[in-house]
Parts: sequence; C-alpha cells; structure tokens
Amino acid sequence: MAGVTPTRVALLGGTGSIGDSTLRVMAANPDSMVLHSLSGFRRVDALIERVRQWRPARVAVADEAARTALLAAIDYQPDVVTGAAGLVELAADSEADLVVAAIMGAAGLPSTMAAARAGKRIALANKEALVMAGDLMMQAVDAHGATLLPIDSEHNAIFQSLPADYRCGQPIQGLRQLWLTCSGGPFRDQPERDLSQVTPAQACKHPNWSMGQKISVDSATLMNKGLELIEACYLFNVASTDIRVVLHPQSIIHSLVEYRDGSFISQLGRTDMRVPIANALAHPVRVDSGVEPLDLAQLSQLTFDQPDNDRFPALGLARAAVTASQRHSIWLNAVNECAVEDFLCGRLRFDQIASRVGHALECVAPAPIDSLDAVLEADDHARRWYAEL
Ligand code: NAD
Ligand code: MG
Repeated sequence: MAGVTPTRVALLGGTGSIGDSTLRVMAANPDSMVLHSLSGFRRVDALIERVRQWRPARVAVADEAARTALLAAIDYQPDVVTGAAGLVELAADSEADLVVAAIMGAAGLPSTMAAARAGKRIALANKEALVMAGDLMMQAVDAHGATLLPIDSEHNAIFQSLPADYRCGQPIQGLRQLWLTCSGGPFRDQPERDLSQVTPAQACKHPNWSMGQKISVDSATLMNKGLELIEACYLFNVASTDIRVVLHPQSIIHSLVEYRDGSFISQLGRTDMRVPIANALAHPVRVDSGVEPLDLAQLSQLTFDQPDNDRFPALGLARAAVTASQRHSIWLNAVNECAVEDFLCGRLRFDQIASRVGHALECVAPAPIDSLDAVLEADDHARRWYAEL
C-alpha cells in the first residue's frame, strides 16, 4: 500500500504463538505495518532474537535482570521498560496506533484495559481479559473510543460475518443466534479413553491448531470454548443463551451468524492464526496473510455434531459462570489457570481441572465488581482459595 502511513504496532506477548504469527503477518506486509514495541516474559532468548530482527523502539521485559541481559545482547539502545507497569506503558503509548493483546491469561488484563482507556485499536487475542472484566472493558472501549478487533478465530469469523460497519459491543441487528464452532480437542474421538490418565503431552497435541500450552490444554478440556462463549457475550453484546456451540472437527468453518430470516453467514479458512490476525491488523483493508490458499475441492467433508457435555463439563461451567455474575467468571478463569498449570507440572490429573473449577464456582460469594482493582482482588482471592485446597 504505497503512500499510506504504516500502522505502528505494539505487540504485547511477542514471544508466544500468537506473537509469532503476528510477526509473520507483519513480515508479509512491511510497507503497511511497523513494529513499534514488543514484550516478552520468561523466554528472554526468544525475546532477544526477535528484538535483533525487528529493532523495536521500545521493549517490555519481566525485570531488571532481563533488561540487562537484553541490552548486553543487542547493538542498539531501545527504551526498555519492566514489569506489569511496563506493559501498561507500552499499551497506552501515544506512538502506537494498534495494540496486539497477545499475553496469555490474567496477566494480560491490565495492559489490555490500558489500551482500551487510551482509545487504541486493539487486536484482541487475550480472551481472559474479557472473561474477567467484560463489562468494564466494554465500558472503557465505549468511553474512550477504542476499537476491538477480535483475533480469536471464532470471534474473528463472527466479526467478518457481520455488516461492514459493525463495531464490537453494539447489538447485532436481526440476529437469531451465534454459532461457535469447536474442534472438540484431541480426545473428541476417543469416548473410551480414561481422561484421568491423560498426560500433558497428549493434551497439548491439538489435532488442528498449533498453540501455546495453556490454550492447548483449555482446548482439550473444552474450557477454551467456555472462555470463548463468555468472550462472545461481551464482544457481540449477546446473552449466553444466544450462543450455540457445535462440534466441527475439520475447523474450516470458524463460526457463524444466524439471522432472523434463516440466513447463516460464516467465514471459512485454513487453521492458521495468521488469517484472523491479518484481518484484525489491517481492518478494514485486506492484506496478504502469507497463508497458502485453501482448495475447497480437496475437502471431502464438513461435519457437525453436539459437544459431549458429560465428558467435558467445562463448557457448561462457563455458561453457568457468565450467567451467575462477573465474580463467577473471574473465579472460573483464575482457578482454571491454576489447575492447568498444576496439570502441566504433573501435580493434578486432567479430569481434576474441571472438577476444581466446578468446586470453585460453588464457593464464590456474589458481590459486585465495579473497578479493575476489584477484578484483580477477586482474581487474587480465587488463586489463594485454590492454593489452600
Ligand atoms: P503462549 O503461551 O504461546 O504465549 C504467551 C505470551 O504471553 C508470551 O509472549 C509470554 O511471554 C507472555 N506472558 C505470559 N505470562 C506473562 C506474564 N505474567 N507477564 C507478561 N507476559 C506474559 O500463548 P498463545 O498461544 O500465544 O496465547 C496468547 C493469548 O492468545 C491467550 O490469551 C490465548 O487464549 C489467545 N489465543 C491464542 C490462540 C493460538 O492459536 N495460540 C488462538 C486464539 C486465542
Ligand atoms: Mg478460538
């Protein structure tokens, strides 16, 4: 796009799976997108490699030790900020046009909220931020003129299936319901499999997508679909009863909008996150994602089925949480994060992830949530509850 000022991108969560896919899309569009800032966390080596290649003006790292290691390993002097405050600074930076919110989990909430309060265009991958603070986030988006552009493939598909002038948070005119498609995860076709014996390596081996560890486990428990259901309630201003989840093992149809007149509109594409990322980064312009074209003639079938709610209770738990209260969703998310981490470290069985979350939801005391501090306090409370189990 010659003659157009390039979009200056703040990439938060730049060393993860979405971070990588984002950089690949940006590499395919060097004239229209520049990397202004980048954040990493534990994988300092991965961050150094990306900083060397992309030379962002600003970098966020976990702490002073990472800052020293980074500066010693590169041959220029970016502005390096540290800790959670550094992420908030990069999110609200007046020199960034668009913030990619790709930090995993609750850790992404303060920076995503800061981007909303700074009125940014936000390419949102960090679904946990909306799960924890949906109302506050949508209020901030509205009050500060921010724009949410969903990266999560299902939500991006719904966004693309809505009228061209649709802005996230508005009601959808003529809607009957939204359909979220769900691959079913790695254990979908193994009804005989004892889920108490599943190992982290088996749970992380997703049949269709290559993703970070936490979301891979969430996909195996179907908690990912539960988090996505809550995410969709806020992004598209619908009740959870307006959303159906349908199994679609091929993951070609990425979700659908069903209108009152009986029309279904959907987006199809390969299972490669560069497609929704390219859509969110360049919206409303269409750019190359670098993804190979999909040959429909090579697809033998697209199938649909009901999810198995008995084997995978997480989806029902998420539905119950979003119906109950914001505090329930915060607890659902926090306890799930703790349980997934314990599972990945071999301290918890796979089937115990959902049972811990179910137990947690029974212990939540309903009390209103009216500020970001209240969200973070409730998140902390849930994690302490989990630690004391
Ligand atoms: P990942 O584990 O591969 O990467 C996570 C990123 O977050 C890394 O850059 C890491 O440095 C950063 N991070 C983690 N903890 C942090 C902390 N405490 N402070 C600061 N930074 C921290 O995860 P991912 O798969 O890229 O997922 C990122 C987000 O995108 C998640 O919210 C996930 O649900 C969402 N998402 C991912 C995919 C996918 O295909 N990977 C699809 C849809 C949505
Ligand atoms: Mg998704």
